[in-house]
Amino acid sequence: MTRFADPAPSPAARPAAVPVFARPPRCESCGYELGATLDSGGPAAPCPECGTPAWRSSPALRPGSPWQQKPGVGSFFSTLWLTVAKPFTVFRAADVSGRRARSLLIAQCSLASLAFLSPWSGVFVADPVRQLRFARSFTRIAQILGAVGAELLLLTCFLLAATWAIAWTLRGYARARGWNADAATMRTIVAHASIGWTVVAGVVWSMLTAWFIATLIVSSSGSPAAARVLGDASGWLSTAGSRYGLLPLPVLVFGCGGVLVAKMTMNGLSACRFANAPATLGAFNGGAEQALPSPPSPAAA
Ligand SMILES: [Zn+2]
Repeated sequence: MTRFADPAPSPAARPAAVPVFARPPRCESCGYELGATLDSGGPAAPCPECGTPAWRSSPALRPGSPWQQKPGVGSFFSTLWLTVAKPFTVFRAADVSGRRARSLLIAQCSLASLAFLSPWSGVFVADPVRQLRFARSFTRIAQILGAVGAELLLLTCFLLAATWAIAWTLRGYARARGWNADAATMRTIVAHASIGWTVVAGVVWSMLTAWFIATLIVSSSGSPAAARVLGDASGWLSTAGSRYGLLPLPVLVFGCGGVLVAKMTMNGLSACRFANAPATLGAFNGGAEQALPSPPSPAAA
């Protein structure tokens, strides 16, 4: 167990324990460095700056988002939902060591590009589904699947790059304010903020699906008024498409995604600005003899 500073090392502690943290433990409320406070007063001591009990800044209170705790389909979707519905709660519980951040980031960007591409590639670009139905040779099938795979990979890489570009721009803002924005914290924040792409992709996918279902219902209902409304709408769409080209729509969609990712990154930076990495747990536990297995109740403080 690493310790922040150890004026009276216990036999269990490493000899000549020196601060090994890239970042000393800080008060999560105000950012005050708690190393000396923890050494003299232990986890119950109040922060000299704001009075918050030191244990409240313990990384033990950051068990990680559901995905960080246990990756799986269920935790993927509960992380997605929680990050959208309660971003501050998720980022306040996030493990800032970057645990399972890469897998979450890649899963989010892959799912988003699948949702972005499925209506486009299925209907507008090359129509791989119909092509597959008429494919007569293994080579042709491989060709079609390869093209879809390449499109997915390309878009996933684009989303990954865009996420990092947004996050690195905002990192400058965080650093200027003295917030924690080291690589591990950034990985944690970026992984959860990339959920913005999945959300926008899901909205676009749902709208297109609703549009297709509406088309099906209208064309089977035989109502002339409904058919006229639908015809007018598709006419307007194709006129707008030929006038402005196909670029504005993706720009609008990816712009919305980018704004959402930026918003979530800001939430993350703000909620993790003084977050302590799990490596500092020893300093909060006050060594083996003063172990703090679970956060004490406020009454104990
Ligand atoms: Zn404080």
